[in-house]
Amino acid sequence: MTKYIFITGGVVSSLGKGLSSAALGALLQARGYSVRLRKLDPYLNVDPGTMSPYQHGEVYVTDDGAETDLDLGHYERFTGVSARRTDSITAGRIYSTVITKERRGDYLGGTVQVIPHVTDSIKEAITSDLENTDFALIEIGGTVGDIEGLPFFEAIRQMGYELGRDKVLFVHLTLLPYIPAAGELKTKPTQHSVKELRSIGIQPDLLLCRSDREIPEGERKKIAQFCNVPHERVIPALDVDSIYEVPISYHDQGFDIEVLKHFKIKSPKNPDFSSWNKIIKTIQHPEGEVNIGIVGKYTGLQDAYKSLAEALVHGGLANNVGVNLQWINADIFETDSAIQTLESVHGILVPGGFGERGAEGKISAVTFARTRNIPYFGICLGMQLAVIETARNIAGIEHASSTEFGPCESPVIGLLTEWQSGDKVEQRSSKDDLGGTMRLGAYDAVLNPNSKVINIYKEKLISERHRHRYEVNINFKRDLMEAGLYFSGFSPDGELPEIIERTDHPWFIGVQFHPELKSKPFDPHPLFASFIRAAVDQSRLV
Ligand code: GLN
Repeated sequence: MTKYIFITGGVVSSLGKGLSSAALGALLQARGYSVRLRKLDPYLNVDPGTMSPYQHGEVYVTDDGAETDLDLGHYERFTGVSARRTDSITAGRIYSTVITKERRGDYLGGTVQVIPHVTDSIKEAITSDLENTDFALIEIGGTVGDIEGLPFFEAIRQMGYELGRDKVLFVHLTLLPYIPAAGELKTKPTQHSVKELRSIGIQPDLLLCRSDREIPEGERKKIAQFCNVPHERVIPALDVDSIYEVPISYHDQGFDIEVLKHFKIKSPKNPDFSSWNKIIKTIQHPEGEVNIGIVGKYTGLQDAYKSLAEALVHGGLANNVGVNLQWINADIFETDSAIQTLESVHGILVPGGFGERGAEGKISAVTFARTRNIPYFGICLGMQLAVIETARNIAGIEHASSTEFGPCESPVIGLLTEWQSGDKVEQRSSKDDLGGTMRLGAYDAVLNPNSKVINIYKEKLISERHRHRYEVNINFKRDLMEAGLYFSGFSPDGELPEIIERTDHPWFIGVQFHPELKSKPFDPHPLFASFIRAAVDQSRLV
């Protein structure tokens, strides 16, 4: 039967609950257990799909087409287990299920209430779709004490009571701030946070204490005593240089062994950390480094491009090099002189994005990469803008643009109104709701035998995750091809261009999908590995 591990957070947000959950998942997996990681998000949006990246960071898309929290990306990168729609449980989704049932009359005349109807619905979501799972790790978003989190905390409290303490473990992540004037790490915020948790009926079994320095024995004892947690289950979670060091660092502090002891698992299998050790070694001792310029709109908040940044690091791992990321706001390229900022980079990447702001700047970055033979990687919007750049500057289609930016004379990028999804045809119009209506999730693409990408993937049929509303307008295919743009991948029905590349350039590839979502440190995505390889070659030239 599945065992449940609930991970809550206190003191402040952004302590890395997602990473801690992902790391514990990896540690249990290294001992041969099967894991599933899930996120409960107490906000009222049905999913983060309609939220600005500035509010919420990246929207992570699953194979089955759900738009989810970026923590699901950490889970997948650390465990390799593909996240599913059922792994993302928001208050918005729960309430919409409950209200739909109420309208249908399913509650048979009863008064519908947070307890038991909302909490029951949360419990149902937590326990559904978990076949063949030894451990379900469930992270609760926000911090203890948030009003909107209360139904979630109540639901997990009930699960602890109903399933028994040997089936459920409560992990609480806190912060020990260092106060320079006192020269001490302070335990009081942790004590208060645990008090808050206990006031709603949850006694944590294990505390994970974030700290920027060693935690003195006296402090650890104090936390154990005042928080009612055994001393060896007050686990120091010290800062590390790379997120990929987190699993082993937690293991060294006894995290996984204490988790297994809680569940009374007597003789656990020995962990196999070989792939993690290899990753850490490469990160700590790279043989060189490359500079990659990422020209985007949300460069002020790196969480907006979380998977992308990680996939570039993975591309570095595949080539034994470190990757320096230079985040460049596309707006600056609206003035000509700023383009020189790109002189020092060995590869230029224009990531996915929405809306017109910054588009002209990004197009200037494409021109720079194309004319200077600098490796160029365009992802989703970055591919669409590369197509517009060729249309305008080589094919001579002066007013080429995307209808996403307003009505235009030559829509080389247009609204996607119909596509094949399995045996179903999806249809859209410009009047549809914005939430959940894009072309989302995994779709196959067939690669052209003479393409560069087929050599990179070493496969003819690929599957990648999508999140877009616009597409390359096939009516311009001939003009674009004559201008040197090669269509190297299509949807299996041959209707939707999925990949473009330039044959007159060392490395110029644009993809309509998001390959960054599937890259793993122990299995770098082939396109990122190849792009960084090209950047390494470029660095030798300059
Ligand atoms: N805005 C573009 C579209 O909807 C690109 C989307 C993206 O980059 N994810 O097609």
